[in-house]
Amino acid sequence: MGGDELAFIHKAFESNWIAPLGPNVDGFESDLSLYLGNNSKIALLNSGTSAIHLGLKLLGVESNDDVLCQSFTFSASANPIKYLGANPIFIDSEEATWNMCPLLLEKAIIERISSGKKPKAIIAVHLYGMPYDVDKITNISKQYGIPVLEDSAEALGSTYNQRPCGTFGDISVLSFNGNKIITTSGGGALVTKNSKLRDEAVYLATQARDSAPHYQHSEIGFNYRMSNVLAGIGRGQMRVLDERVAGRRSNYEFYKEEFKGIEQITFLDEREASFSNRWLTCILTPSFKIREKFRLALEKNNIESRPLWKPMHMQPIFKNYPNYCNGVCENLFERGLCLPSGTNLSIEDLQRTVAIIKKNTK
Ligand SMILES: *Cc1c(COP(=O)(O)O)cnc(C)c1O
Repeated sequence: MGGDELAFIHKAFESNWIAPLGPNVDGFESDLSLYLGNNSKIALLNSGTSAIHLGLKLLGVESNDDVLCQSFTFSASANPIKYLGANPIFIDSEEATWNMCPLLLEKAIIERISSGKKPKAIIAVHLYGMPYDVDKITNISKQYGIPVLEDSAEALGSTYNQRPCGTFGDISVLSFNGNKIITTSGGGALVTKNSKLRDEAVYLATQARDSAPHYQHSEIGFNYRMSNVLAGIGRGQMRVLDERVAGRRSNYEFYKEEFKGIEQITFLDEREASFSNRWLTCILTPSFKIREKFRLALEKNNIESRPLWKPMHMQPIFKNYPNYCNGVCENLFERGLCLPSGTNLSIEDLQRTVAIIKKNTK
């Protein structure tokens, strides 16, 4: 926590706004809207996952539709496709960003359209805070008339051509889960430039109640709105967002400097247009074997590190859906490792991690 969160929670208690609406919800929404700029309208929700669910629904995804989804991601990007009874088609990553490969995306679209079924949406993810190739993905989306749901759950504070991630999709999604760059313990947001869509999201998130003096519903709704208490945490967290991004980036720089000249360890550099919040520092090793050697050595010293996300097309729940994959993200999964990346780590903590890995490169 940054320090100001409790004051906002106190305000919620003092004013008795202990509900999924109130001044902190309005305040956090306007803080985010100001931060993202670009005419962003915000609907605060109880998770990033519910934001993806409502986002796909608002993009018109229905039962039996096809949705193109980045394979290299956390399962929450893809699960909502199934909530709607639609089918995922997984797309591999490109080496340059580790995110959705524009070439494979276009190949998939052309093949699917020629087989008579045009996909309904594209879910592209800024994984680990690294922006996907926004220009290319957006152009493909426009060319074929398929909207993008931008999963920016890991990328608040990242930018592409100086513009914030979370502003590039037809609908964009943020997460404030406990592990993210800023947190409300659990929470998320749907971002759009269209205020009608934003209001529609809030309507669906509050049980789709019609305007009538009694309770009337013409549509199935959800209980997805963020609590006013948790939004208070969010307002406090907004004040330290820039500091958190700087802290994560400085962890990354520290590791990079320490591992300079070590052949067994490489990093994903930013491209010219990209600025990453470096949510997690990830390294690539030459092989699964060496990756495991590092991971197990850290574990023996009571330091947690993690393999990169296991691709969706390799997951037991998703392996039978079509995919356009050629080994890129599979290879990243085998060779990559996320290092301790929290902003509360001391220099000594970071040095301890580095020393253990260095010892195991010999
Ligand atoms: C965390 C995360 C989500 C889901 O957010 P929750 O708030 O945890 O539901 C979606 N996509 C990605 C890439 C994430 O990392």
